[in-house]
Amino acid sequence: MTDQGSGPEAGSSFDVVIVGAGMVGGSLAAALAKAGLTVAVVDREAPAAMLDAGFDGRTSAIAHGSMRILAGAGVWKRLAVYAEPIWDIRVADGDSPLFLHYDHAEVGDGPLGYILENRHIRRALFEHLDEAAGVTLFAPAEVRAVANEGMAGAEVQLQDGRRLRAPVVVAADGRNSKLRRDAGITVSEWRYQQTAIVCVAAHERPHRGVAHERFLPSGPFAILPMRDADETGSEGETFGIHRSSIVWSERSELAPRLLALDPASFDAELSRRFGNFYGAVRAVGPRWAYPLWVLNATRYTSQRLALVGDAAHAIHPIAGQGLNLGIRDVAALAEVLVDARRLGMDIGTGSVLQRYERWRRFDALTLVTVTDLLNRLFSNDVAPLRWARDLGLGVVNRMPPMRRFLMRHAMGTVGELPRLARGEPL
Ligand SMILES: Cc1cc2nc3c(=O)[nH]c(=O)nc-3n(C[C@H](O)[C@H](O)[C@H](O)COP(=O)(O)OP(=O)(O)OC[C@H]3O[C@@H](n4cnc5c(N)ncnc54)[C@H](O)[C@@H]3O)c2cc1C
Repeated sequence: MTDQGSGPEAGSSFDVVIVGAGMVGGSLAAALAKAGLTVAVVDREAPAAMLDAGFDGRTSAIAHGSMRILAGAGVWKRLAVYAEPIWDIRVADGDSPLFLHYDHAEVGDGPLGYILENRHIRRALFEHLDEAAGVTLFAPAEVRAVANEGMAGAEVQLQDGRRLRAPVVVAADGRNSKLRRDAGITVSEWRYQQTAIVCVAAHERPHRGVAHERFLPSGPFAILPMRDADETGSEGETFGIHRSSIVWSERSELAPRLLALDPASFDAELSRRFGNFYGAVRAVGPRWAYPLWVLNATRYTSQRLALVGDAAHAIHPIAGQGLNLGIRDVAALAEVLVDARRLGMDIGTGSVLQRYERWRRFDALTLVTVTDLLNRLFSNDVAPLRWARDLGLGVVNRMPPMRRFLMRHAMGTVGELPRLARGEPL
């Protein structure tokens, strides 16, 4: 990868220009480069800023299917060393004794998925792209405009005057996508009155690879198993080195007050929600806040343009599926483009891009709808609803075929899977 951030005029042509070097844009660049396409990746942030410890405090639950896609793109071998397997998932409505238990042994030998820190995913992607043939990074670089030049292809014009030409441009520029807006693609979106408070919790006892989702009246509270901290990263003798990542959805008006609490008061609030099944718990490191909203673009393609990841759809983190959805976009778009190229077609024509759009629409719409419904159903303390949903969880838990179906969904191994998601090469 050549970093052209301050380089000379690049009067360059590529097979694909990707705007956005986030986790989705970076994964797509890796997949396309592995298949022999030349790729330009543009991001307005400098790579060093994106790799800074302060850039993103989140972890991501990476489903089994996404792991296969990242492996097929050549990136997983760098990620495996950081990945903590998820062996079991326990879903409970507050303190209700009726809960849903996903056990990996019901669907195979391997884990249901993995927890990775986003900073590790970003680093692995940049390191991979740095060595990949055929990838050129333009960062920091702001996009001024994208011109669709009909049969001649598209041209991405950067603020500094450089021009990048390709038959197809991909918008991987996140939920506020400029490219989507400039293409006139509208979205359905609404803001939840919830903010995700994200932090790392250290606890006395090991998590043994169990992920917990507790539905609390103000929003879901997820406890995600992280790798134990190494010697240098551990804090406090009494708490040992066992860690979980917390995604605590809270009413937006309360979140700033919670975030501003002194450490002892914050730990008390955290422990109240966490429970004591891992012994004493306390927050370590910074606290982060992410306002939550849902968004779905009315179209995922336009002339010589395809949307991927949060630029196309952003969902509530209740099921830890937003990035997984984006990684499945990557696998589908890469397959469609590579197949078209092998047939000698213009890879930016409408028929090629519409195949991608048709393929991804259903998966995304399903998750947009399901995550929104789940959040509405569970984020309240209305007695009849509580009774009905607890009963629902208990019933599903007693139906092994239904449970297995839901598990396979969460693992990203159902539906019309792209080759990469099936573990096959592109
Ligand atoms: C609290 C929380 C927890 C989550 N947990 C999970 C989870 O466990 N599992 C899961 O699957 N998903 C999870 N998600 C969702 C996941 O984080 C997102 O879906 C994912 O980060 C989207 O990645 P992206 O690359 O599409 O977009 P982004 O990460 O937003 O990247 C967009 C990139 O484009 C660049 N950019 C933007 N505009 C421009 C421009 N005009 N010119 C050039 N570059 C530009 C930005 O600098 C950025 O690098 C969670 C989300 C939240 C909020």
